[in-house]
Amino acid sequence: MTTRSLIVDAHEDIAFNMHVFGRDYTNSALAIRQREARTPIPTHNGNALLGKTEWLLGHVGVIFATLFAVPARHAPAAWETQPYHDAREAYAHASAQLDSYYRLAERDETFRLIGTQADLDAVLETWAEDRDLPDRRIGLVPLMEGADPIIEPEQVEEWFERGVRIVGLAWEGTAYAGGTHEPGPLTPAGYQLLEVMADLGMILDLSHLAEEAYYQAVESYEGVTIASHSNPRRFLPTSRGLSDDMIRRLAERGGVVGIVPYNRFLKPGWQRHDPRQEVPLAAVVDAIDHVCQITGSVEHVGIGSDFDGGFGVEHVPPEIDTVTDLQKLGDRLAGRGFTPDQIDQIFAGNWLRILRQGLPE
Ligand SMILES: [Zn+2]
Repeated sequence: MTTRSLIVDAHEDIAFNMHVFGRDYTNSALAIRQREARTPIPTHNGNALLGKTEWLLGHVGVIFATLFAVPARHAPAAWETQPYHDAREAYAHASAQLDSYYRLAERDETFRLIGTQADLDAVLETWAEDRDLPDRRIGLVPLMEGADPIIEPEQVEEWFERGVRIVGLAWEGTAYAGGTHEPGPLTPAGYQLLEVMADLGMILDLSHLAEEAYYQAVESYEGVTIASHSNPRRFLPTSRGLSDDMIRRLAERGGVVGIVPYNRFLKPGWQRHDPRQEVPLAAVVDAIDHVCQITGSVEHVGIGSDFDGGFGVEHVPPEIDTVTDLQKLGDRLAGRGFTPDQIDQIFAGNWLRILRQGLPE
């Protein structure tokens, strides 16, 4: 049997899928696909890549699990049940999603929320080599993607008390910052929010920030910073990608970039109806290697899959059938000369360093 390394995945949109598509992730991804086989869901969101069986088999032991709602001005599709017109609505959706993670953990002991160092230790202990599969636990670290559910800067304290540990200020633009498709700086409220977050010791996620706001945030934030799911612009030549300079600035702050194995983020011009075979798994290794090359280190890159965030099995490299197959990156990285220790760092160690720095005692 091949040895599998622990994976920490820095971005999965789990609660959004539970709410919008009714996905029950205590099932396997394959069971979710069967249940949706004669529904329009695969057309909207792709076939599921995530499920409990696949997380366990793939040794995906820690996940940054998002709270995510869509601004109504984005003209969401008719199936979209989580649009928000104002901060109150954004708050309500994110709040319900956070409650869903707690309910998931109550309903199925495999899942645990991680809010402290002790919680992280308890989850990691279940991944020791002598433990059996049924003993393993999947730890969820709540990550708010887009900060509009924070009604005013001081109110982030309530979210922290309820377990949110990581906040990204933007998706598109928010009250706090310019974002994807909506360029702009940090707003005065954005600067205030960063101050409160730093006082609480929260982790700042720079993904989706507009370039101007990105530089302001990476320069001014006094706490731990990451980009949970952002590919280099060489692979994603839009404002959603990170320039080499943006990556280097984050690395100088000790941060980590999560690479997304989504074909549109790996091959410029790839469209969702194009054959997935056009983007091999090697492209994911190329993106990981690029971050290592430009930062001169393996310390600033990890995986931030963004599964099942608006795409599915149809839209990822053909070697990936489910999240379990992220393990295949191990052999591919070894083939490029990465050592076993370096692969462990990319799979888990770099994100664990961030959590050690950013989680409370
Ligand atoms: Zn995103």
